[in-house]
Amino acid sequence: MPPAIRQNVPLAPLTTFELGGPAGFFCQVVTSEDAVWALRWAGDRGLPVFVLGGGSNVVVGDAGFPGLVLQLVARGTEFRSQGDYVLVEAQAGQPWDDVVAAAVARDLAGIECLSGIPGTAGATPVQNVGAYGQEVADTILSLRVLDRRSLVVRELPAAECGFAYRNSVFRRDPGQAIVLSASFALRPGAQPLVAYRELADALASQARPSLSEVREAVLDLRRKKSMVCDAHDPNRRSAGSFFTNPVVGAAQAAEVVAQALRENLAHAPEEVPQYPLPGGRVKLAAGWLVERAGIVRGLRMGPVGVSSRHALVLVHHGGGSTADLLRLAVHVRDAVALRFAITLQPEPIFLGVAWPAPQRTG
Ligand SMILES: Cc1cc2nc3c(=O)[nH]c(=O)nc-3n(C[C@H](O)[C@H](O)[C@H](O)COP(=O)(O)OP(=O)(O)OC[C@H]3O[C@@H](n4cnc5c(N)ncnc54)[C@H](O)[C@@H]3O)c2cc1C
Repeated sequence: MPPAIRQNVPLAPLTTFELGGPAGFFCQVVTSEDAVWALRWAGDRGLPVFVLGGGSNVVVGDAGFPGLVLQLVARGTEFRSQGDYVLVEAQAGQPWDDVVAAAVARDLAGIECLSGIPGTAGATPVQNVGAYGQEVADTILSLRVLDRRSLVVRELPAAECGFAYRNSVFRRDPGQAIVLSASFALRPGAQPLVAYRELADALASQARPSLSEVREAVLDLRRKKSMVCDAHDPNRRSAGSFFTNPVVGAAQAAEVVAQALRENLAHAPEEVPQYPLPGGRVKLAAGWLVERAGIVRGLRMGPVGVSSRHALVLVHHGGGSTADLLRLAVHVRDAVALRFAITLQPEPIFLGVAWPAPQRTG
C-alpha cells in the first residue's frame, strides 16, 4: 500500500514557531520505498517537495507551501560494537534527544553536549547541529541517504557531507538527498567533553564529571535559556537561535572591536567575544552583537518578541503571523548592521517565504 497523501494540511502545528500556512500536499513515510513513491508522485505532478523533520528549524510562510511536504517518521536506534567504538545508527524520524539519552545511558561519549536539542536525528546533519563545543560532524561516520534525483539509496561517508559551521551539502543543496538514517561512532567509557566555559563553570564542583552529569548540566543550562522544548515555557515558540554567529575576516573583527570601544559598548578588547578559527577567520557572538545593538531581551513587537532569556532567540507569543516574525527579525538584523556593519544570517530554513534581503543604502 502506498503512503497516504493528504491535502491542505496545516503546517503551523508541525513547527515549533507554530506559524505559517498549510502544505498543499502532505505525506508521512517510513521506508525508503515509500519515500521513492512519494517523490515520484510529486515529480509526476510537477510539485516541489520539502522534507520536514520535527519542524524546529523552519519558518513557514503565511500562505503555506503549494508542493508536497514529506515527513520521515521511521524511528529506532541500534547499537553495534566495532573496534574501539560503538556505532549508533538512528533512523531519521527518531527524536534526537532520545538518541543522546540512550547513548549517555550506555556510557558512550561524543554527543553528550548535544543534549536537549529539539528535532529529529535525520535533520542533525543538515545544519551540523552543535552546542557547547560539540557538533554532530565530530562523530558522524556515515549517512544512509536517498538521492532525490536518481532515487537510489546509498551510504554517504562523513567526508562527503561537506560539514562546516551550521552547514552541510544538505543545507547548501536541499534538492540533493534525504537522510534516511545517521550512524555515529561513539567512544565507550571515554571522558565527556567539557570545553565550553559556561559548562565548565556549571560543573566546577565535580573533578571528573560523568557523561550523565554533563548531560544534566547541559539540560539545566539550556532550560535556563529556554533552549529546550517545554510546553510551559512562555518563550517556547521559537527555532532556538534565529541568527548564526557571523564568521568574518580578522580586519572586520578588529573593526567591530574598535566600534565597540568607540561607543563604550566594551571597555577592553577582551570584552568583545571572538573565537579564532583556522585560516585566520574569526567567529563573533551574534547574541552579544544583538544586545550591544540595543535589542533587549523581552522586547515585544505585538505577538512576537525577543526571548526574555536569550537575545538571539525570537519568539512567537501566539496569535501572530510569519510576517510579524520576519518584521522583528529584519529589525534585529538591521540594528546590528547599523551599529557594527555586520549582516546577520538567519539559521532557520524558509519554506514558502523568502528571507528579506537587506535594503541597500547610498
Ligand atoms: C528551543 C530550540 C533550541 C535549539 N537549539 C539548537 C542548538 O543548540 N544547536 C543547533 O544546531 N540547533 C538548535 N536548534 C535548531 C533545531 O533544533 C535543529 O536544527 C534540528 O536539527 C532541526 O531538526 P528538525 O527535525 O526539527 O528539522 P526541521 O526543522 O523539520 O528541518 C530543518 C531542515 O532540515 C531538513 N531536513 C529535516 N529532516 C531531513 C531529512 N531526514 N533529510 C534531509 N533533510 C532533512 C529540512 O528540509 C529543513 O531544511 C534549536 C531549536 C529550538 C526550537
